[in-house]
Parts: sequence; C-alpha cells; structure tokens
Amino acid sequence: MLVGNGFDIHKHSNDEKLVLGGISVEGPGFEAHSDGDIILHSLSDALLGSKAKKDLGFYFPSNESTPKNISSVEMLNKVLEIIEYDKLVINNIDITVLSQVINISKISEAIISNLADLLRIDKQLINVKGKSFDNLGVIGDGIASACIALVSVKDA
Ligand SMILES: [Zn+2]
Repeated sequence: MLVGNGFDIHKHSNDEKLVLGGISVEGPGFEAHSDGDIILHSLSDALLGSKAKKDLGFYFPSNESTPKNISSVEMLNKVLEIIEYDKLVINNIDITVLSQVINISKISEAIISNLADLLRIDKQLINVKGKSFDNLGVIGDGIASACIALVSVKDA
C-alpha cells in the first residue's frame, strides 16, 4: 500500500468563478494561473506523491509553458497518465478544505460524485470535509482558502 499527501492554497478573487473538485460552485473564485481548483490541485499532488512522481508544479509550472486558465481536470488527467493510473487501485481518498468562505457541507456530495466520475471509482471511497479557521489568519479572514488531500493506493 502507498500513500500520498497534497496541499494547495490560493487567494480568493471576486473576479474569478469558483471551481472546486472540477465543478462550478457559487462563491468567490481564486487568483491563479490555472482555474485555481484547490481540491484537484491537492488531490493531483497526493496522487503524484503516492508514486514518488514529483509535484504538479513540475509538470505544470505557473508560467507561459502552461496554458493560462488551464482546466484542473485536464491537469488531473495528465497526472493519471504519469502515475500509470490504470495499473493502480484507490483504497480511499480523504480531503479537507480549509476555508472561512466556502461551505463544504452543502456541496460535498456533488464534489464527491464528480471526483468519483473523474477517477472512475466508487463514491464510498471518497470523503470531502470542510474546516473553518476560527477567523484566524489569511484563511480565517477569507483572503485565501486551502486544501489538504490524502490518497492511499495499491497495485492493481
Ligand atoms: Zn493550486
């Protein structure tokens, strides 16, 4: 069994649309070179970590070599190729969104469904939870939101 962890944080922007776990949801989006999807970025990093394949920034640097506003679904699909996903089985995925402005409990079911579709696995294997920041710091002030992802895989 292998495990990988991933972390991501982006600054909120009212000028951007919020994309989380590959779906559009209500709320302030993120300033980012890509669509700023903190769930898919941390999940992609966790998947790469589980197979010791560096990190998302290595394959998609935040410069002109990566298309502006690239979809994080596209990035995830590339990551699945890199880790040879078809030779793996996901044991489980646990995701925590750290935010003062995103109410995860309202949208977690929709995000879990989409993640299950993207990864072609059962919804029961995925947990998405939220954690507020007790009004502390940049996350507590609603300036940024972050995400932690943990993935466990084994060889198929
Ligand atoms: Zn990111």
